[in-house]
Amino acid sequence: VMASVAHLQEEKLRLQEELLGLQEKLTAQENKEISRSLQLQSQVETLKAKLLEQAQEISRLRSELGGTDVEKDLLATENERLRQEMKAREGELQELRRQQQQQVPFQDCTHLQENTELQEQLSQLQQEAEETRAKLAELDLEVQQKTNRLAEVELRLKDSLAERAEEEERLSRRLRDSQETIASLKSQPQQIKYIIKTVEVESAKAKQALCESQSRNQYLQEQVGMQRQVLKEMEQQLQSSQKTVAQLRAQIMMYEAELERAHGQMLEEMQAMEEEKNRAIEEAFSRAQVEMKAVHENLAGVRTNLLTLQPALRTLTHDYNSLKRQVRNFPLLLQETLQSARAEISQAIEEVNTTNRELLRKYRRELQLRKKCHNELVRLKGNIRVFGRVRPITKEDGEGPEAANAVTFDDDDDAVLHLLHKGKQVSFELDKVFPPKASQEEVGAAVHAVGMSWECNHLLTLPGPPQVFQEVQALVTSCIDGYNVCIFAYGQTGAGKTYTMEGTATNPGINQRALQLLFSEVRGKAADWDYAISVSAAEIYNEALRDLLGKEPQEKLEIKLCPDGSGQLYVPGLTELRVQSVEDINKIFEFGHVNRATECTNLNEHSSRSHALLIVTVRGLDRSTGLRTTGKLNLVDLAGSERVGRSGAEGSRLREAQHINKSLSALGDVIYALRSRQGHVPFRNSKLTYLLQDSLSGDSKTLMMVQVSPAEKNTSETLCSLKFAERVRSVELGPVSRKAELASWPSHEQLEVTEASLGDSPGTAAPPARGHVSPVPGQLSSRVASIRRKLQASG
Ligand code: ADP
Ligand code: MG
Repeated sequence: VMASVAHLQEEKLRLQEELLGLQEKLTAQENKEISRSLQLQSQVETLKAKLLEQAQEISRLRSELGGTDVEKDLLATENERLRQEMKAREGELQELRRQQQQQVPFQDCTHLQENTELQEQLSQLQQEAEETRAKLAELDLEVQQKTNRLAEVELRLKDSLAERAEEEERLSRRLRDSQETIASLKSQPQQIKYIIKTVEVESAKAKQALCESQSRNQYLQEQVGMQRQVLKEMEQQLQSSQKTVAQLRAQIMMYEAELERAHGQMLEEMQAMEEEKNRAIEEAFSRAQVEMKAVHENLAGVRTNLLTLQPALRTLTHDYNSLKRQVRNFPLLLQETLQSARAEISQAIEEVNTTNRELLRKYRRELQLRKKCHNELVRLKGNIRVFGRVRPITKEDGEGPEAANAVTFDDDDDAVLHLLHKGKQVSFELDKVFPPKASQEEVGAAVHAVGMSWECNHLLTLPGPPQVFQEVQALVTSCIDGYNVCIFAYGQTGAGKTYTMEGTATNPGINQRALQLLFSEVRGKAADWDYAISVSAAEIYNEALRDLLGKEPQEKLEIKLCPDGSGQLYVPGLTELRVQSVEDINKIFEFGHVNRATECTNLNEHSSRSHALLIVTVRGLDRSTGLRTTGKLNLVDLAGSERVGRSGAEGSRLREAQHINKSLSALGDVIYALRSRQGHVPFRNSKLTYLLQDSLSGDSKTLMMVQVSPAEKNTSETLCSLKFAERVRSVELGPVSRKAELASWPSHEQLEVTEASLGDSPGTAAPPARGHVSPVPGQLSSRVASIRRKLQASG
C-alpha cells in the first residue's frame, strides 16, 4: 500500500508537474493570443486610418470635379453670349439686305454675291460654334463617366471595409471563446488537488481512494487529452486566421494600388481635358473675332456699293420710263404698217392672179394644139412599128477582120443605129433599136409599148439593159380585146430571127412568152369573161401553105373566102388546137418541129427557106353582155432575106430564092401601102400577105422586127435589111407620095441596084384587094421595070 501510495504520490507529483507545465503552456498560449489579437487590432486601426484618408481624398477629388463643372458653366455662358452676338449680326445683315432690296431694285449682281458670301461666312461661323458646343458636350460626358467610375471605386472600398469589420468581429469572438476555455481549464486543477488531499488524509480509505483517484486520474488524463486536442484545434484556427489576415492584407494592398492608379489616371485625363477645352475655346474665339472683322469690312464695302448704285438706278428708271412711252405708241405704229403691208400684198396677189389666169388660158390653148398635132402624128404613123434587133457576135462568125463588129448605137437615141459599110458610116432610124445586150424580155415590152401608146415609145424606155419581150407585151394583150396582131421577124439567115421568135429552151422568145402572157391575162379577166385560146402552126414554102399540126403535113392548103359573104378568109383543113397551159404550148411547138423536120433533110436550111407561122386565136365571151370578141396573134419567123442565086443558082435553089424574094417584096409592099395609107394594098401578091390580110388591115397592129448581124462580113446584107426596115417605116406625104403609093415594093435585089435612086421606083399595078377601091396605076421607072422583067423571065 505504501508503495502504491508512494507510487500514487509520485504519480500525483508527476501529474502536478504536468499540470504546471500545461498551465505554463496555457499562459504562454494565452499571451501569444493576446499579443496576436493586439497586433490585429492595431492593423485594423491602421486600415481604418487609411480608409479615412481615402475618403478624404475622394471628397477632395469631388470638390475638384465641382471646380471643372464651374468652368464648364462659364464656357457655356460664353458660348451663349457668342451665339447671341452672332444672331444680332445676322439680324443686322438681314435688315441691311432688306434695305438694299427696297432701295436698289435694279442693283447689279456683285452686291448680291457679296451678301451671299457674307452669309456663307456667317453660316460657317455658326457651324464652327456648333462644333465647339458639341466638343464641350463630349467633355461633359467624359467628366460624368469619370465621376461614375469614382463612385464605383468608393463603393468597392466600402464593401471591403465591411468585410474587414466582419472578419475582425469573428476573430474577436474566437478570442473570447478561447479566453473562456482557458478560464474553465484554470478552475479544473483545484478539484484534482482536493482528491489528492483526500488520499493523503484518508489512507484507510486508500484503496477506494486510489481507485477513485485512478479513475479520476483516467478522467483527468482524458480531460488533458481533450484539452490537448482543443489546443491543437485552437492552433489550427489561429493559423487559418493568420492566413486570412495575410490574404486580407494582400487584398488591401491591391485595392490601394488600384486606387492609386485610378487616381493618377483620373488626374491625367482631367489635365488633358482641361488643356483641350482651353485650346478649343481659344481657337473658336480667335476665329470668331477674325470672321467678325471680315463681316464688318464686307458690310462697309456693301454700303459704299449701295451709294454708287443709286445714281445708276436713277438713269435706269429714266430709261425705263422712256421705253414705256415707246411701247405705248408701238401698237398704233404696227397697225399702220400692217395696213399698208396688207394693201400691198393683196395688190400683188391680184396681179399674180391675173397673170395666172392669162397663163392658164394660154396653156389650155397650147394643150389643144398639142393634142391636134399628136392626133395628126398618130394618123400619119399608123399601126405599124419597125424595130431593129442586132444580135451579138457569135462563135459562128469566126475570127479576124471578117467577124469584126460593124454596128454602133447612139447613146442618147435608142432608135438610131450606125453601120460601117465599106469604110462609110450609114445611119438608120427605126422606131426602136435593140443592141446585142438586150434580153429576150425587153423585146416583148417594146411591143407592149406599141400596143399601149403608139406615139411615145421612147418615153417608155426604162433605164438599164433593154429587155426584148417587155416591148411586145401590150401588143399581145390587145388580142384579148379583139385586135389582130402580126409580129414578123425579118432578116438574113443567122441574124437571129428564130432566136427572137422561138428562143431557146432556157430563154424562150416571143412565141412562148406571148402565150404565157395571154394565159395570165385571161386568168385575170376570168371573173367576167370566158376565153378560148387556140393555136395553129403553118409553113409557107415555095408559095405553098402547109399545116404543121396536121396529120398530113405534105398536103397543100388553100386560102378561101368565107361562104357567109362576110369577106373573111379561112383555110379549110388547117388544124387548130385548144391550149390551156404552157405544157400544151410546148407540146405543140415540139410537134410542129417534128413535122417540119420529117419532110426535109436539113432542117436549118429548110427553115431558113420557108416562113413559119404561129397563129394564136383568142375568142372571148362577156358573160354579162353576151359580147363576143375574136383576136388573132400571128407570129411569123420569115425566111432568110439574103440574096441567093445571083452567081448561077439553079433548079430548086433558084426557085426557092424567087419565091422568098417575091413574098418578102409583097410583104414590104403591103406594109408600106398600109403605113402610107394608100388606097390599094397588094395583099394578093403573095400567099403570106393574102393569108395575113385580116391581121394586117383595118385597126390591126403590126410589128416588123428586123434582125441584123453585126459582123463585118454581113454588112452588105445588113445594109439591105436596114434599108428594107427604113423603107417600111418611112411615110411619104404630098402629091409625089400619092403617086408613089401606087408603086410596087422593089425586090431585095432591086434595093441594092437602086441604092442611089431610092424613092422614085414605081411598081406594077397590083391586083385589087378585098374591100379596097382599086387605085389608078402609077408609072414604073423604066430601069426597075426592066429588072423586074428580067427577073420574071428567069423565074
Ligand atoms: P435565123 O433564125 O435568123 O437564121 P438564128 O435565130 O438561128 O438566126 O440565130 C443564129 C445564131 O445566133 C443562133 O445560134 C442563135 O442562138 C444566135 N443568136 C441570135 N440572136 C441572138 C441574141 N440576141 N443573143 C444571143 N445569141 C443569138
Ligand atoms: Mg431561123
